[in-house]
Amino acid sequence: MIVAGPRLACRVTVTGLVQGVGFRPFIHRLAIRHQLGGWVRNGSGDVQIEIEGVPPEVEAFVREVAVEAPPLARIERVEVNAHPPRGLTAFSVLDSVDEPGQRQPVSPDVATCAACERELFDPADRRHRYPFITCTDCGPRFTVIEAMPYDRERTSMAAFRQCAACLAEYHTPGDRRYHSESNSCPACGPRLAFRAGSLQIEGNEAALAAAVELLGEGRILALRGLGGFHLAVDATAPEAVRRLRERKHRDAKPFAVMVRELADVRELAIVSPAEADLLVSAERPVVLLARRPEAPLAGQVAPGLAWIGIMLPATPLHHLLLAGIGRPLVMTSGNLSEEPIATGNDEARERLAAIADGFLLHDREIVARYDDSVVRVVQEAPVLIRRARGYAPMPLRLPVAAPVPLLAVGPHLKNTFTLVHGDWAYVSQHIGDLENLETLAHFQEGLGRCQRLFRIEPRVVARDRHPGYLSTRVAREFGLPEIAVQHHHAHVAAVLAEHGECGPAIGVAFDGTGLGDDETIWGAEFLVAGLWDYVRLGTFRPAPLPGGDLAARTPWRAALGYQSLAPDLAPLLAIAFEGIPESQRTLAEQQIARRVNAPLASSMGRLFDAAAALLGVRREASYEGQAAMELESLAGRRPAAEYPARIAERGRLLVADPTSTLAALGWRRQRGAAVADLAADFHASIARTTEEMVHQLAERTGLRTVALAGGTFQNARLLESVRTRLEGLDLRVLAPRLLSPNDGAISYGQAAVAAARLATGPSH
Ligand code: ZN
Ligand code: ZN
Ligand code: FE
Repeated sequence: MIVAGPRLACRVTVTGLVQGVGFRPFIHRLAIRHQLGGWVRNGSGDVQIEIEGVPPEVEAFVREVAVEAPPLARIERVEVNAHPPRGLTAFSVLDSVDEPGQRQPVSPDVATCAACERELFDPADRRHRYPFITCTDCGPRFTVIEAMPYDRERTSMAAFRQCAACLAEYHTPGDRRYHSESNSCPACGPRLAFRAGSLQIEGNEAALAAAVELLGEGRILALRGLGGFHLAVDATAPEAVRRLRERKHRDAKPFAVMVRELADVRELAIVSPAEADLLVSAERPVVLLARRPEAPLAGQVAPGLAWIGIMLPATPLHHLLLAGIGRPLVMTSGNLSEEPIATGNDEARERLAAIADGFLLHDREIVARYDDSVVRVVQEAPVLIRRARGYAPMPLRLPVAAPVPLLAVGPHLKNTFTLVHGDWAYVSQHIGDLENLETLAHFQEGLGRCQRLFRIEPRVVARDRHPGYLSTRVAREFGLPEIAVQHHHAHVAAVLAEHGECGPAIGVAFDGTGLGDDETIWGAEFLVAGLWDYVRLGTFRPAPLPGGDLAARTPWRAALGYQSLAPDLAPLLAIAFEGIPESQRTLAEQQIARRVNAPLASSMGRLFDAAAALLGVRREASYEGQAAMELESLAGRRPAAEYPARIAERGRLLVADPTSTLAALGWRRQRGAAVADLAADFHASIARTTEEMVHQLAERTGLRTVALAGGTFQNARLLESVRTRLEGLDLRVLAPRLLSPNDGAISYGQAAVAAARLATGPSH
């Protein structure tokens, strides 16, 4: 009922994450509630609304747009322009308009909402046990969207025509599925199929039953999800988990586990309130949790680690599988070690043939590869370890806007790329290690798609200094001006930028390795850094890494490198080489002596490796970081003694020499100290040394802000103790939150540096 009297009309433009989140239905409800005429439509860069009605109602509408927006929306700006009334009385949803040159965020996939979960298990509902149930509040988005604006015809749901019942929901204002672009039901939507050898089973229930039966027998299921295939196996069956490791060529790297609900998580691990919030969040990441020693899980799920990665079901298919099997499942990416996750049915059946005993397939195409995200809570604050499903490709801000569109190609390992327009940085999902053609193809395909989605045509490319990286070659191929950014500068810049800061600050970058600006390898650096530039003012004493890259998987080689710096370490270090063939050791010694393939490196990752070898914890690793993760697991939260490194001045460079720390640990071990205590002592010694280095640099420079960066800070004990100590010195500490401490953040850091340099020119 439209009231007579003075009327007000205006155009409201809303930008931010406002498509694929139930925004148009929300606007429709709001307009009806306030008795307004007009329309709403999706644009390429915004949602456009026209409303008309009595002034108090129009004003209330404008107020409530931002306040009452759907939970998944993230509103950036609401712009209101009044215009003369046109006499509109009804309110409608118009077709989307495609406007070239406009861009906007694309919603990540959203885990099944509570309402859909209820319907899924309600025998009276027409979507009872339907594996593709969604609504405007949940379901696939990034993995099905081919282009914006967000409409079904530009998604991989376009292949499925809604039946009459679904269409009725789609067109009924007030329905939970009003304008739900992924709407479907058992009659009209995607379907499951099961394949095992020559066995072919069609139909949702029959395929699911076959999959559950296979898992129940301890066999391996390849399961097509939203962003790619998972490999699943009964996590309580040691033989089954062992077989998965063997076939996947993954010796020890931890597997994630999926359980049905929060109560099940608590049986396996200790869950804090912040961790519980993350587990049930719409993003549904894998959360790294302190494992209960008595947890009924096969030891091979996460060997040698005190924590376990657990997630709750993110899709209806997960819910159904977990309900059917009734115990925890290992859920790991459907790939051979080091390769990207498989997405297509045929591709998976070929690539995973030697791993999976059966395949649970469906017929909706996957537009984007999307790994599970991994989060760890440190001091009650989440730290993203791997950013993909649920988070990417939400853009982050840059403190300094880029004057031209940019591409940052990221690092060599744990690659992501970043596209920049203005002060928006679109950081890709986790891509993987750029070491093989499959991952390179994943990179190029992902990049092409994001360029189309966000309509960004880069004019400058940012890359690592390292000329030999595959990412550098990729950067060259664009034939555009390049900006080279040193690896640890990018680490520190990423942390500054995600906190909205430009620096200068003291940056502590601890990681595996990156190419320094003196052509040696860096990895334990103290920089004074801003976005534009940096000066290296401190480091750990470098040691030779015999075998170069090989050393990352052989902690004993790292130990040998430190021994060459301090020969009196030798008697304390003998244990580090037990079981290592004499010939290998002799070769490594010769490499060090002749300085052939034994580059000098100040790597914190390799220092953790050397300590692990020296304590007899691990001499050879099956994945990078294994030794450090085991040391952290052993250390737990036990109290520790400190054996800080000696700090010396070499010119303007402060150098911490960790050989004294290693010697003290070796000496105590020989006298029978417990390895777990010594692992704790090692952490405390590194934290104490870091505190002292930063303290001296703060005195020297007058800077009071410290940014902690680099993969080593995935170590919760180290991050927590370094942060606490520095805050004790009254320093302000910035740590990674939205992006990983590890190399997943490098492309964003490169982008932040390149944008700043371009904005103020080379003179800066
Ligand atoms: Zn839902
Ligand atoms: Zn239908
Ligand atoms: Fe790094």
